[in-house]
Amino acid sequence: MNELVAGAHRGFDDAVRALIGRRAETIVRGDETGTVFLDSLYSELVEARHHGQRSEHSTGVSYKSKPPVWIDASSLLHQIDRTVATWWRTRPDAADLSVTVTRLQLLVDYRWAPDDVAALQRMTHIIHGWVGSIHTLLGYAPAVKELTVPCPACGETYVVADSAGEQTRRYALQLTTIGAGCAACGETWEPAEYVTLAALIGAATPDGIVKEAA
Ligand SMILES: [Zn+2]
Repeated sequence: MNELVAGAHRGFDDAVRALIGRRAETIVRGDETGTVFLDSLYSELVEARHHGQRSEHSTGVSYKSKPPVWIDASSLLHQIDRTVATWWRTRPDAADLSVTVTRLQLLVDYRWAPDDVAALQRMTHIIHGWVGSIHTLLGYAPAVKELTVPCPACGETYVVADSAGEQTRRYALQLTTIGAGCAACGETWEPAEYVTLAALIGAATPDGIVKEAA
């Protein structure tokens, strides 16, 4: 049971890092390889919202068809902040860092009990979803690959996603660098379990990957 908590906690820690940790990027310059550190996805989301608001005010552009990025960024930020606040209800004293970032760090440091495995997995899955949404929103190389086969846990192939009022259909099973998950039922698989997942869906994992989520 303790190993289960430890495993669930590791998964949660990885997911939180993917959202609020600085991102190490390898750069190659000639024969030399170096590492640069970029802001966290969460900070970039905050930036995207501010930037959008500024430019919208200064240009007075009105958007008719597609909502501007900052509306999506703003609503995703709101969703993240509100959800994390239900996970850690006490408002931390966060002078420099955002309250949400501090809450997530407190959640990572918390001594989770065996009873918390399901809760940890659920939070982990939700954070993976945010990381994928931020990648998509900010136009980064996609972190999410979609699988075209039905989820072995719930049988769903598609989910309907709502993006600023626009409904789009996408594949339920999604593969990221930090885990795979079903957007329909919330089942998750760690990278170490990919072989199991591939067996469950009856395919060599790479063959099931048809497209990168745009
Ligand atoms: Zn499912």
